[in-house]
Amino acid sequence: MDGLRFHCLPGCTRCCTQKGFVYLTEDDIQRAAAFLNLAPAEFERRFVYRTRRLRRLRMKRQCPFLLADGCSIHPAKPTQCRLFPFWPELVEDRKNWRRVSRYCPGIGTGRLIQIGTAVDRASEMKTAYPELY
Ligand code: SF4
Repeated sequence: MDGLRFHCLPGCTRCCTQKGFVYLTEDDIQRAAAFLNLAPAEFERRFVYRTRRLRRLRMKRQCPFLLADGCSIHPAKPTQCRLFPFWPELVEDRKNWRRVSRYCPGIGTGRLIQIGTAVDRASEMKTAYPELY
């Protein structure tokens, strides 16, 4: 791939309703807690599942912050949500990028992003979640 086209479409929440986990960095927890006016410990108690290596949002049927009109913590959303679809496993693998384009209508739209720029952006995932990469 020389480049990718992507532009997130207003009003769309299709990536939020896919199966999977939302992993959290320690900074994500602090930021989301502050946005909700909660102490980080209270945010954790209500929303975070912590394993020995990882922290992730507790999900019931879907993300607890997804409302009918979109993400209710949008300005403070977790790193992986903010970076999507610029994840290493997607930008570095044409097949995966194409697979995700089946549910993400923003893929293939917008201006051309050079592959080096996309890979650079995706490297933030590796820094944020070293346990996953
Ligand atoms: S599925 Fe794609 S276009 Fe829709 S909200 Fe997610 S990133 Fe944006």
